[in-house]
Amino acid sequence: MHETDVLIAGAGPAGLLLAAELALAGVRTTVVERLRERPHCRGFNLNSRSLDLLARRGLAEGLVAEGHQVPHAPVTGLPGPLLLADAATDHPFSLGIPQTRVEEVLEARAIELGAEILRGHELRTFTQSPDGVSATIHNGQTFEARYLVGCDGGRSTVRKQTGIGFPGVDARWFPLLGDVECELPYGVSAGPDGRSVYVIPRPGYVRIIVREDDPPADKYTPVPLDRLQAQVDAVLGRHVELRAPRWLTRFGDAARLASRYREGRVLLAGDAAHIHPPAGAIGVNVALDDAFNLGWKLAATVHGTAPNGLLDTYHDERHAAGERILANTRAQVALAEDDEAPLADLMRRVAAHPAGNRALAEIITGLDACYEPGGHPWLGRLAPDVPLRVDEVETHLAALLRSGRPVLVDFSGSFADWSPSVEVIAAGSSTSDLSAVLLRPDGHVAWAGAPGCGDEGLADAVHRWVGKVPRSLAVSGGGRVT
Ligand SMILES: Cc1cc2nc3c(=O)[nH]c(=O)nc-3n(C[C@H](O)[C@H](O)[C@H](O)COP(=O)(O)OP(=O)(O)OC[C@H]3O[C@@H](n4cnc5c(N)ncnc54)[C@H](O)[C@@H]3O)c2cc1C
Repeated sequence: MHETDVLIAGAGPAGLLLAAELALAGVRTTVVERLRERPHCRGFNLNSRSLDLLARRGLAEGLVAEGHQVPHAPVTGLPGPLLLADAATDHPFSLGIPQTRVEEVLEARAIELGAEILRGHELRTFTQSPDGVSATIHNGQTFEARYLVGCDGGRSTVRKQTGIGFPGVDARWFPLLGDVECELPYGVSAGPDGRSVYVIPRPGYVRIIVREDDPPADKYTPVPLDRLQAQVDAVLGRHVELRAPRWLTRFGDAARLASRYREGRVLLAGDAAHIHPPAGAIGVNVALDDAFNLGWKLAATVHGTAPNGLLDTYHDERHAAGERILANTRAQVALAEDDEAPLADLMRRVAAHPAGNRALAEIITGLDACYEPGGHPWLGRLAPDVPLRVDEVETHLAALLRSGRPVLVDFSGSFADWSPSVEVIAAGSSTSDLSAVLLRPDGHVAWAGAPGCGDEGLADAVHRWVGKVPRSLAVSGGGRVT
């Protein structure tokens, strides 16, 4: 029997970032991954939102140095790019980088921080009680944990066995995908009857995407090279040799969202919680976003320091985000399929307008995430990485979150007595008009102090996001009890 605090099923982007976040917070974490080796690379981009989040732990810089920057966000169904230059982000670009490389970096960090990653371990069954979860893997070994998180992909065993519904719409099409070598130029190659083959550059090979004329009833039927070859030749009306296949598969446009992200001691993150059309190349990014939201909340819950209801805010915040992602990826597909329709025309006009272009870029990348609408423009949003001066040293806001703990950044020098209820960092800033700002560990703003308003509302925010507020700072009837 193997004992741990949190058992994670699945070592994809969601499972690995979650493991790193939990380990950073000192939570005993074990990841069981079915596969012995990392599979062939599926995704190839980190968007601005992911880079902003990873920067809060010092993880973005190395990836940015390795990847290829593109100044726009991927989108389907619009004729031009969505520019990121004016978007609300510290990283106004998409980063071309293999998903497998991102996973390697996250895995190394998780292991360095003390997480255990067991490959070749497939979770088969589990039961949960009020005290914990008992899981069994393929060889009969059992794992006892306080919480189980299903990061085990779209066909999640954890989701199915928990009985969590996965409502949504079935796929209507399953294009063929082949990572191969061939002489086709990058971009769209049209055939004589208007059908097309899409050719996307990849390191040392190309990714071919083509609609299948006669797809099998079971979309998981293996795709042999001669099937892809025949379809490409049929669409182009000529033979173009495909060589050296690395990966041959089908993908679909199904859109489904788990009805609950938490059931007792079992949680879901990443593709286990949502699947959607590939529009906007968002999958890895949403998986990271879920994990980043869940990690600190689950860690505080395991440590017994979490405020009441903190763990449930994971469902509240990320299920709502999942709904928006399903809606906007489906909308992109609808635009692509209906490009002569009035709605597509309207959206093209919106995208051609600088403000509309920016709004669409922020929606599609998730940069518009706001968990607490209203009040100061920073409230509920990821605080921008503004330059700061702390202890006479030039630094920046994201650097204050490296430890993964909540922080009260004190711009006015009048919040020192909130320590040790929350870590207070006195900082000078020439860009912020606030007296102080309470940052959750994920960098989202839990409270923003307007100048002249003292600490009104701060006790509630600390109570809600950090934990118990000492009596000396507790608010009673709008005033402070001292
Ligand atoms: C063709 C294609 C192209 C894509 N391109 C992009 C892109 O450009 N950008 C982008 O952001 N996203 C892209 N995606 C989506 C992206 O790959 C996924 O959304 C992302 O990998 C989801 O991460 P995850 O951690 O939730 O799940 P996964 O990466 O699927 O990881 C789940 C893991 O769980 C393991 N597992 C499953 N069952 C068990 C079990 N019972 N026990 C133990 N382990 C288990 C699996 O082996 C797997 O390693 C693409 C997807 C496809 C199919």
